[in-house]
Amino acid sequence: MDILNLKSLLITALIFVPIEHFFALRPSQRIFRKAFFNDLIYAVFNGVPITVGLIATVTLATSILGWLVPAFVGAAISSQPVWLQLLEIIVIADIGFYFTHRAFHAIPFLWNFHAVHHSIEELDWLAGHRIHPVDQILTKSASFVPVYLLGFSEESIALFVFIFHAHALLLHANVRLNVGPLRWFIASPQFHHWHHARERAAYDKNFAAQLAFIDVVFGTMHLPGKLVPECYGVDDPIPSHYVEQLAYPLLPKGKINEVPSARDA
Ligand SMILES: [Zn+2]
Ligand SMILES: [Zn+2]
Repeated sequence: MDILNLKSLLITALIFVPIEHFFALRPSQRIFRKAFFNDLIYAVFNGVPITVGLIATVTLATSILGWLVPAFVGAAISSQPVWLQLLEIIVIADIGFYFTHRAFHAIPFLWNFHAVHHSIEELDWLAGHRIHPVDQILTKSASFVPVYLLGFSEESIALFVFIFHAHALLLHANVRLNVGPLRWFIASPQFHHWHHARERAAYDKNFAAQLAFIDVVFGTMHLPGKLVPECYGVDDPIPSHYVEQLAYPLLPKGKINEVPSARDA
């Protein structure tokens, strides 16, 4: 926890709480909803292990694989206009995100980490912070390692980080936002709310973080008209509190696995 993090969290709240109030998808949902304080702990403390882990994986990967990309390629990439680099980063990073996210759904060991994120039962801007650090480090590494290897400029990467974070908050927010035909290209709150839906037809769909079009290409898009899910969550027995949730994927599942998961069926 640092002061900067608390300050940016406060600014984020000052932006999103009014937006959620005036454009609410579920007007009856309270600001201090169930698990609000648990998700607040994630928002305050989770950034440190994620940043440390991400720096470690990106540094290690780029030092081992750096030889794959000749210096002139990096120089050519970083000399492009920032807006063009940004668009290229979004495409490259989201393809990495998409496949890692799919792996977290498909491989039971990884799903135990990712199920913590899917245990959210009331979605809002704060809920999106509930992500196990291992989940976040691996998924973001898949996005960032190719971007750093290819030599994109620091400026364009910093811009991407800001936009990605703001977009992730919006995707989880309790808002009704109609983006028209763009919903087939860009991830919208409706798109990501369906990813969290506790409905069999929506399981393992809408994996992209920013470009919904990737799900269209790979046949994993689920966007039924203007409908939104009735409820969110998973059947896995995820505990209620931060420390227990961090430990959950690593605990023996002998007893826990006796509780059937709808996703196993
Ligand atoms: Zn997921
Ligand atoms: Zn989510």
